[in-house]
Amino acid sequence: MKSLPRKDLFELPDGVIYLDGNSLGPLPKGAADRATKSLNDEWGGQLIRAWNSAGWMDLPRKVGNRIAGLIGTPLGSVATGDTLSIKVYQALAAALEMRRDRRVVLSDNGNFPTDLYMADGLLRIIDKGYELRTPAPQDVLSQIDDSVAVVMLTHVDYRSGRMHDMVQITRAAHAAGAVVIWDLAHSAGAVPVDLTASNAEFAIGCTYKYLNGGPGAPAFIYVRPDIVEGIQPTLSGWLGHDAPFAMERSYRPAMSTERMRVGTPSIVQLTILDHALNVWDGVDMDEMRRASIGLSEQFIAEVETRCPSLKLASPRDPETRGSQVSFAFEHGYAAMQALIDRGVIGDFRAPDIMRFGFTPLFLDEGDVMAAVNVLEEVISKQIWRDPKYQTQSRVT
Ligand SMILES: *Cc1c(COP(=O)(O)O)cnc(C)c1O
Repeated sequence: MKSLPRKDLFELPDGVIYLDGNSLGPLPKGAADRATKSLNDEWGGQLIRAWNSAGWMDLPRKVGNRIAGLIGTPLGSVATGDTLSIKVYQALAAALEMRRDRRVVLSDNGNFPTDLYMADGLLRIIDKGYELRTPAPQDVLSQIDDSVAVVMLTHVDYRSGRMHDMVQITRAAHAAGAVVIWDLAHSAGAVPVDLTASNAEFAIGCTYKYLNGGPGAPAFIYVRPDIVEGIQPTLSGWLGHDAPFAMERSYRPAMSTERMRVGTPSIVQLTILDHALNVWDGVDMDEMRRASIGLSEQFIAEVETRCPSLKLASPRDPETRGSQVSFAFEHGYAAMQALIDRGVIGDFRAPDIMRFGFTPLFLDEGDVMAAVNVLEEVISKQIWRDPKYQTQSRVT
């Protein structure tokens, strides 16, 4: 049974084809009402009692359990809160403590900057001669050896859409005695993920991309259940404590992934995310993947035929690609501005990448065709040359 797309579940403005759900998912219908209710009825009406009466205190765990269902992990194994950058730090700190005799963190040079920056900052403060290695993504496997403490990778490359083989890399890392962290920022809600099958120790991700939680939505962290009780959280905040309201002098971590929580959760954002996750009810992730590949393949074929000056910057093999397609074009920034001006919203990543996300929840073949029509016009008529498309905004 075909259940996609589900456009009617989203507030999509007229005249817009949204190919940026990989960066900021659109507003799900009803989310604004839900947020208003949490503000007016819960905060306004119930005040501090809402922590109990409106279920605020249980919300981080409840939402974590819903995310667990999307990434193939058991109930209770996913904690939510903070930002992905913070979760990178926590996961890496915990992983390093599991391999105290090793000094190499292996990532790749396509990883998202904040993942590498957070690692740099952590390794600097530990000050024990750690090295962060960032080979090209295709060379990661060959660089795994018994000097590596932690393999920390983003599953789907934010720029190119290239997807690592999660099972193969995790297996190789474990064979060499290393701990594995997967960043699922561009995977959760984009491709089927079976973390349990991969046997990785940690996974982290954000919820404002394919999970449509809205700007500032909380991040998530997964810790493999069999190791969680051995993890000593570095950011040992009170809400990761086993009994926060016992107000004990010493820190005693919760007996689940909840120990990776830090401080007071962002309730309004969690409320919105909880509502946003309803759009996944009944979605078959394999159908989702087939639809995503169909849209991506259609887009690539049309663009290569009609806009030959754009060069595919994503893997050609759909099996090694996430749910986005990137094209390199020298004037990519200006061309993307011209596209956005015409209602086709993708984004640009330096130095020359035009990036298009394909989210089958709200896109169909007609949208892809309409987007390529506009792209062809912008490129063939060199509309991007207009001076108004040359000035760079703060957010690209
Ligand atoms: C989007 C993204 C981030 C963003 O981190 P925040 O802390 O949420 O700003 C981090 N890492 C990767 C791989 C991403 O794709």
